[in-house]
Amino acid sequence: KRVEVPAEVHGINPDLLDERAVKVVKTLTDAGFEAYIVGGAVRDLLLGMRPKDFDVATNATPEQVKGLFRRAFIIGRRFRIVHVVYGRGREHEVIEVSTFRALPTESEAVGGNEKTAKSELEGKSHAVDASGRVLRDNVWGPQIEDAARRDFTVNAMYYDPVRRLVVDYHGGLADAKAKVLRMIGDPGTRYREDPVRIIRAVRFAAKLGFELEPKTLAPVKASSALLANVPASRLFDEMIKLLQTGHSLASIAQLKKLGLARGVFAVLDAMLTETGDLHEGVRGNFVRMAFEDTDRRVQEGRGVSPSFMLACMLWYEVLDRWTKIRDGGEPAVPALAQAIDAVFDARIGDISGRGKLAADMREIWMMQTRFERRTGSGVFTLIEQPRYRAGFDFLRLRADVGEIDPALADWWEDFALGSDDDRQALLADAR
Ligand code: ATP
Ligand code: MG
Repeated sequence: KRVEVPAEVHGINPDLLDERAVKVVKTLTDAGFEAYIVGGAVRDLLLGMRPKDFDVATNATPEQVKGLFRRAFIIGRRFRIVHVVYGRGREHEVIEVSTFRALPTESEAVGGNEKTAKSELEGKSHAVDASGRVLRDNVWGPQIEDAARRDFTVNAMYYDPVRRLVVDYHGGLADAKAKVLRMIGDPGTRYREDPVRIIRAVRFAAKLGFELEPKTLAPVKASSALLANVPASRLFDEMIKLLQTGHSLASIAQLKKLGLARGVFAVLDAMLTETGDLHEGVRGNFVRMAFEDTDRRVQEGRGVSPSFMLACMLWYEVLDRWTKIRDGGEPAVPALAQAIDAVFDARIGDISGRGKLAADMREIWMMQTRFERRTGSGVFTLIEQPRYRAGFDFLRLRADVGEIDPALADWWEDFALGSDDDRQALLADAR
């Protein structure tokens, strides 16, 4: 049933709202459509947090939405939505507008059949694979169905910023107050439809400090095998999100608690012990410091770079392999390149569209050998590199955990910041 919650009860602070999102809602409602702020933004508003992005849900179709805004783009295939864009360059902001989606019909939910094939021909369908995973999702429907197909009760609320009403079909408000993460519908079925919901549960529990409600928790471990069917690139994106919530160590702890720390993400397998903990000593400390730094940056609203974080997570595996290859007689630089190739093969695999990320990781690692040579013109070209800063931050982290002599990081810092005379003196010292 539909419950409309007034401002005195939900207590959302209007100062936390984004003007542009409110403008999108007004434009749509002025044109005669229904429109609400939806999902994670409503959840965060209820918790008194400023949402990092705003989604809008409406009964207007993507084409109708596009027609109402000057800069709006229909994107996505599996899930068509409209990006309404405000501003330019670094300051630009995107409001995602999605059309209310219908629930999959029962026949669709139990597996692909003729009906799916037919609606597929009509170009809008819930395509489902043999394991029940929804592949495509573009059938429009009423708000009540749109709510029911969302994942958790706290993610399924709508907010009308003009009338200041929260619309709640699944008791999300009560769950938000109680800090409970509860799957809508039958959790086992919902994990089967989309196994990524398992990782989302981990993410929200860690980020919000929520507990998984018992029925939501029960099928998690058994369902986790289904994650093997999820395309590698989507799983990779989810892992990155999991580690960039501003609560990365809590995310790892939550994975461990649910029995998912090992065997789900190859990158984590490289980084964690059999029991799902960080290693003792320098190895674990290195990752811990990298994560703490990332969390700090996220919480301060500064950007974080997945390539830096991943380079940290995999560094000790790179070092192990590098040592082994060098012991076999290979010179240091080609040995490092080979070690990096091997780690990419084993832990990242072939994730298309990741060229930039992989190149950045490789550069951070390769730079570490160049920091050891403090002579000649190489020193000058190194500090002029666009990725120098990331490479240096990495070097500094290695020094901070005691892997290398801090004097080396100090030298580079002094050199990069120094005057010409300082630099000549530093070069003379290093000889
Ligand atoms: P965040 O604050 O991390 O962005 P969010 O809740 O906004 O969290 P999004 O991934 O941005 O998460 O998704 C927006 C909304 O879309 C969710 O709140 C949820 O209602 C719905 N949603 C997203 N992914 C799924 C999914 N896999 N299954 C069901 N509903 C989903
Ligand atoms: Mg969101």
